[in-house]
Amino acid sequence: MSWEPIVKSRRDWEVVPHLHDYGDIRSSFSWERARQELDGLPGGEGLNIAYEAVDRHATGRLRDHLALRWIGRNGEVQDYTYGRLQELTNRFANVLQHLGVAKGDRVYVLAGRIPELYITALGTLKNRSVFCPLFSAFGPEPIRARLGIGQAKVLVTTESLYHRKVEALRASLPHLQEVLLVGDAHKPTNVPGTKDYYWLMAEASDRFAIQPTDPEDMALLHFTSGTTGTPKGAVHVHQAVVAHHITGKLALDFHKEDIFWCTADPGWVTGTSYGIIAPLTNGITSIVDEAEFDADRWYRILEEQRVSVWYTAPTAIRMMMKAGLEPVRKHDLRALRFLASVGEPLNPEAVVWGQQAFGRPFHDNWWQTETGGIMVANYAAMDIRPGSMGRPLPGIEAAIVRKTSEGGIEVVREPEVQGELALRPGWPSMFRAYWNEAERYQKCFAGGFYLTGDLAKRDKDGYFWFVGRADDVIKTSGHLIGPFEVESILLEHKAVAEAGVIGKPDPVAMEVVKAFVSLKDGYEPTRELQRELMGFARARLGAVVAPKEIEFLPSLPKTRSGKIMRRLLKARELGLPEGDTSTLEG
Ligand code: AMP
Repeated sequence: MSWEPIVKSRRDWEVVPHLHDYGDIRSSFSWERARQELDGLPGGEGLNIAYEAVDRHATGRLRDHLALRWIGRNGEVQDYTYGRLQELTNRFANVLQHLGVAKGDRVYVLAGRIPELYITALGTLKNRSVFCPLFSAFGPEPIRARLGIGQAKVLVTTESLYHRKVEALRASLPHLQEVLLVGDAHKPTNVPGTKDYYWLMAEASDRFAIQPTDPEDMALLHFTSGTTGTPKGAVHVHQAVVAHHITGKLALDFHKEDIFWCTADPGWVTGTSYGIIAPLTNGITSIVDEAEFDADRWYRILEEQRVSVWYTAPTAIRMMMKAGLEPVRKHDLRALRFLASVGEPLNPEAVVWGQQAFGRPFHDNWWQTETGGIMVANYAAMDIRPGSMGRPLPGIEAAIVRKTSEGGIEVVREPEVQGELALRPGWPSMFRAYWNEAERYQKCFAGGFYLTGDLAKRDKDGYFWFVGRADDVIKTSGHLIGPFEVESILLEHKAVAEAGVIGKPDPVAMEVVKAFVSLKDGYEPTRELQRELMGFARARLGAVVAPKEIEFLPSLPKTRSGKIMRRLLKARELGLPEGDTSTLEG
């Protein structure tokens, strides 16, 4: 493994990084002390994410400080101070009370990055209900599955998304009692079976007292994908906020005058932990852009909003790299102080490109839905070895482990040896369950470790290097996709006998979803059928999840027990050795 050239951290700091002395801070760190940075509910009545994010600032000196600046697709800007955010989130908490939505009930949002999403999230947490964001690019099937599994009681969505993706599902969702609609042109809605969000908000009081909240009360439900089975709902509790807050400080280096832009959608855990919670608990200003990626638009936002800390993802960085340095040079980006990336491996060229384009490298960090917050990071004061994910944050014990022949786990102590990345449980944003799936949850633990499902190595200096997934899960443009979810939909088409789905390497998106399909008797593998299947999958799954390529095969390789061997499909696709095929069906 080579890590040259090292990108030296600058020592001419404009502001001294919070994690300026890794060794010292790590050895003196405790989660108890981190908790002291937060206020807790007045009267010692527990810990509530929304109180830490909004109310404690709104009742203090940050009342008039800008909390969120929303930039609409067409350039419209809406500003929300901490004080205004308090009023609006109080109103939404009252709306829930009025509708009889109780502590622990699940409130979902299916929407793009609109202000109402952020207000719903925080108002839901104030009511001690559970916030569950859904990615608006999902098609009806992934939406139905996630609403059904989590037994959503309330859904907040837009009028057009409702008509396109939800209305037809209502009959199959008996738990879904209330659908609150945000009108497309901010106009009142009058759709049967729904209520108008704005009308309810206008009727509600802007005062709300958060009830006692146990730090272990459930707060967030984030869906993620496994290799097999249905999507998994990772459960997070209110005290996760301790990790959100402190990782915002240590890994993203938030300082009080920062203007922070997390480009992630809240439908993905990053967009909630760092797109909503962490910047607010730290009392800084967040930018929210409604539009999708566009290099020119992004540079304009960085410049005009004077973004100082920017958290984005490798796919976006690679797309910017494609557009070259010319467009960057047109902008004054001197306000940018810290650049970070997450979600997929960040290739060394991208780290270095940050240096060329912005005068600063991208700092990669690693975490996942289950960990709730950043675990391993290239922090501001550290020399970067491009391609490495960095080092475990204070409070986080990470190890490389491998399975023993007796079925146990042993820690790999030698450097440079590949194994599974494992974490010692105990940090506050650790998931507490997969919703209603105790067995799947238990399977994630062995030998006192949480097993992440990622393969990695550690070098002699304690830097961690990502190697790949230990399972068949696909990462495309930062989205985790379970092959089973895609295969199940393809199998619903009348022509499909078998389906096997893999991630095919792609220079920009890292992987794209590719499906292999064998057909039932009487169907021919024509281009027309291929197109029909693509359209079928897209309509059901949405553009993000649906396969970008479909290939017909006479039959798919299977184990003797009938399981489709995705590993083999992938090896064949890539022209790689097929490995152990002893279980291959005769
Ligand atoms: P998600 O739960 O959707 O956020 O996906 C988490 C997975 O994304 C991890 O288990 C990794 O496989 C991958 N991932 C996240 N961050 C990184 C990173 N910095 N480098 C490599 N892979 C990453």
